Amino acid sequence: MSRPLNADIDLDALRHNYRLARGLAPHSRTLAVLKADGYGHGAIACARALDGLAPAFAVASLEEAASLRMAGITTPIVLMEGIFEASELGDVEALNLWMAVHSDWQVEALLAYRPAHPIPVWLKVDSGMHRLGFAPHRAEAVWARLAAASAQACDLHLMSHFATADAMEPGYFHQQMAVLSKLAERLDAPLCLANSPATLAWPQAYGAWNRPGVMLYGSDPLEASNATSRQLRPVMTLRSAIIAVQTLAAGEPVGYGGRWKAPRPSRIAVVAGGYGDGYDRHAADGTPVLVAGRRAALVGKVSMDMLTVDITDIPEADIGSEVVLWGRAATGEVLSVDEVARHCDTISYTLLTGVLPRVPRRYH
Ligand code: PLP
Repeated sequence: MSRPLNADIDLDALRHNYRLARGLAPHSRTLAVLKADGYGHGAIACARALDGLAPAFAVASLEEAASLRMAGITTPIVLMEGIFEASELGDVEALNLWMAVHSDWQVEALLAYRPAHPIPVWLKVDSGMHRLGFAPHRAEAVWARLAAASAQACDLHLMSHFATADAMEPGYFHQQMAVLSKLAERLDAPLCLANSPATLAWPQAYGAWNRPGVMLYGSDPLEASNATSRQLRPVMTLRSAIIAVQTLAAGEPVGYGGRWKAPRPSRIAVVAGGYGDGYDRHAADGTPVLVAGRRAALVGKVSMDMLTVDITDIPEADIGSEVVLWGRAATGEVLSVDEVARHCDTISYTLLTGVLPRVPRRYH
């Protein structure tokens, strides 16, 4: 028997989540963000599953786009950060990509380039994230230059990213929206603004395009979930099994440093899966897992290849019993990656993208 840890990827759930996002914004086109290897799910498999459904994909680098093209994906792909050096423009053209521009040097490089056909360009504006993009007062002039360069650039869109669309306090989101609405009006520009939280919670952010990522993979990014986010289905199930069982007397410790001590006579399951697989080492005592479909608590420090779970109250659990670290158990019970992330003092994005290559992805 091989090591029982696998990442099971439910491609029907991916399509379900995509349809939810699209259904919220029927007047927008909804692209699927596939960067970071499809948030750890396998970008190529996700692209194939969404083929014919999503009208475009978005990635963070030329390498990510190239691997999709090499796999035969012909759907439009947006490079959300554009190029990292001018020499990449040849590949942008050869791979038939759309690209964001966020900096003067990118604009100069594009305007000095002579493509056979103009490249679709999304002008990135910094409406308040203060990460990438032109300041709003400069966007109009840059837009005008790109609009005049019809041999280099076509299909101009205005793109921006929200810093707080997930938060219950909407003040800053509204500030960003005010900046963008003014600019869009002046430029009469088609927009691409909405990430997952904005897609789920802020219809006023819908543009010609929306740009959700994490919700497609079944994670709810909202601080306070809503009726739609509760319908998201987990795409990844990180599934393992019990490989050994320890019987401890009250007071005996478990694992490195003896962080957790049995408060009563306890049965402890040793489970295949650790930080060497991408399971977060910061998972606290009490982090939930599903053992044979029932909730149980992680106890003791996560090791590289193993973690330990208190199964004292699950007498039927034994070597070989299913353990779901997040996702859907064979019984149908769901443990959301968002809940696990809270116990690790992190977010679902890091857990999903952090599942390491040694964990086989199995597609269903
Ligand atoms: N757009 C940009 C520019 C991003 O960086 C990201 C993700 O980080 C997304 C869209 C998708 O965001 P989310 O996964 O929150 O939907």
